[in-house]
Amino acid sequence: MPREYGKTRAVERHFLRPAAAPAPEKSLAANPDTCSNPAQMKPINKFLLQHNLRIAQNPCISPDFCLDWEALAAKLAGGGAGTTKWTKSGFETAAGAWQLIEDTATGDCAWLLQAKARGRGKAKAKAAAPLADGVTVGAGVQAFPATFENLLRLKNLVQEHNPAATIFPTAGGKLGQSTLGVGARFTTLHWPAVEWAMSALELGVTANQNSIPRELVYDVNAMLEGRLDTVPFPFIGTNVPEGHQGQSVEGMSHGCVLSKLKTGFHHRGVAWSFNADHQPIGGKFDSREDQLVAGCVLASYITFDLSPELAQTKVPEGAAAQRAYVSANVDAALVAKVKARVAACGLALNEEQFNALLCYTWPALRKMKVRDTKYRTAREQAFTTAAGRAFLRELSIDELPGLTTPETTAIMLAFCEALEMPINFIAPAFGFQKNMPYPDNAALRVLIEKQWAVCRQFGASIGFHSGSGKSAENYQVMGQVTGSRLEIKTSGRYTYEMGRALFSSPNAADQALWKDWYRFTVELALLGAVSADATEQKMARSFITDALTKAGKPADVFATPAATRQAVEALPPSPEHMFWFEYNFLFVLAAGGRAEKKALGDHTAAGYQQRARFYAVSDEGRLNFAKGIARYLVFLAENTALAPAARCAAARKLLDGYRTMAEFLADISR
Ligand SMILES: [Zn+2]
Repeated sequence: MPREYGKTRAVERHFLRPAAAPAPEKSLAANPDTCSNPAQMKPINKFLLQHNLRIAQNPCISPDFCLDWEALAAKLAGGGAGTTKWTKSGFETAAGAWQLIEDTATGDCAWLLQAKARGRGKAKAKAAAPLADGVTVGAGVQAFPATFENLLRLKNLVQEHNPAATIFPTAGGKLGQSTLGVGARFTTLHWPAVEWAMSALELGVTANQNSIPRELVYDVNAMLEGRLDTVPFPFIGTNVPEGHQGQSVEGMSHGCVLSKLKTGFHHRGVAWSFNADHQPIGGKFDSREDQLVAGCVLASYITFDLSPELAQTKVPEGAAAQRAYVSANVDAALVAKVKARVAACGLALNEEQFNALLCYTWPALRKMKVRDTKYRTAREQAFTTAAGRAFLRELSIDELPGLTTPETTAIMLAFCEALEMPINFIAPAFGFQKNMPYPDNAALRVLIEKQWAVCRQFGASIGFHSGSGKSAENYQVMGQVTGSRLEIKTSGRYTYEMGRALFSSPNAADQALWKDWYRFTVELALLGAVSADATEQKMARSFITDALTKAGKPADVFATPAATRQAVEALPPSPEHMFWFEYNFLFVLAAGGRAEKKALGDHTAAGYQQRARFYAVSDEGRLNFAKGIARYLVFLAENTALAPAARCAAARKLLDGYRTMAEFLADISR
């Protein structure tokens, strides 16, 4: 009998079908043929076990948080030696009281359910098991493997019992109006710090945010079968496999929920969201949009990025041809509605510009609507509650050429509104450079005021992309103009904080990791500086020049490769050097830590073994890292006025006092 379910488990994504009937309760003895039977195991779990890439040292690669259920189930049935029960993880559903338990050495996780006592007459009757593949491990206690399928079922059980539960990411609280986007360009080690900051500031944020398929592996089977696409990185003159951080979208979805339970964050009742960032619409992504939708099913916030379709859209030439295109392709009533809405915002529309913009964006808007329907349908099929199905929308238009005009913003928002895709956040282009403050606050204020005058009329907040590394004054302007109706998207900052934490850690292994990491970026910079690729060479030289100049050294060092090397190697290693900042994220999945283009984004065991080095960071290193991240989030929240200044000051004081990681973690649940 178990053969059947094993077969379907391996190949199907359950959530695209109506929820399967709950599996009958099993006991381990009666069903030795569990999901860890290699013949039935998911290919990704087989791959990870084969190479001894376990969750404890390499989390979030598999969608599952249990690779070897047979072994863990046997341990639990045998009394639980070698396991860790997460005492703060408790929560309830109609079925009873739940806790998370983990195999201490491997990181494999299971759900423990203490069933509610049933009425006397039915005491012997067995209820249907709430999750699949359960085993009895004690009187009235069952254990279930932490598979992705079980996670989806559990979300329903939790939200049916308590729609306000904050275990899973939602669109609740003020998340659709004001938030901070905390990107995980790199590992999952920042999560406890994000939970700490949300708890201390009593502020829900976008606590999980990733570009998919760019940063996260969108489909682990595609990865194993070598079907991942590549992403061009002009600044290193090469393409790197997508999913270049190694973790899968489902694995991250799973891991960020478990992290909240382990720290007890969910007891604070602060809603948080998960943003599937820059979801590519159209272009070459058409062929796999169903996989993108399926992988992101736990995301409570979708960012639509129209640029792939825009890049291939041919706008007819001349006003007459554009007018003809619009009347032939776009419903006249829709056009009239949008025009009226834009006019009501007090914006005068130039007919020719309107047509030109519509020719450019209409194919993408149509595809966005199709995709939006798919996101909604996937949630309706997988989830049973309104809270579980709701998702926020962001429209990213900062990829359109030039600074975004208020008219463009208005037209895009009006179309989305008329097409019943109301936008929570819109990201116009303000001319931001990643990790650089905006030089002129008065000019920034004027730019934002113009956009905000439009956005507020659509109930949309402003998303500030490339938001890392702006000045305190920049953030104050953003907060003041919008009344804190904004999102600041950050990402690169958190990799930088890891560099700072390792750099200042007294632990020898942390220092070794830092030295290898720094050396990796030095070698990439030196390679780039002599590259035949003009962009790569220009970028590498500008990073080196910046570092030398800031160190007060002469920057004219490119006469010979030897001269460049000598100058760069003479610099004291520092996470403040621009070349370290720009190349650092590529180290995580570089096979053997090698600074070679073909070693980057390596999805074989070699890449993941490299990634494991970060999960071996010492407690001192982790505490440095956690404090740095929490301080940065407090800084953002204070300057954008998302949290009151007094609360921010109190949070900073707490941070100053922590001496161990355990103290820091203990405060999250309060
Ligand atoms: Zn964007």
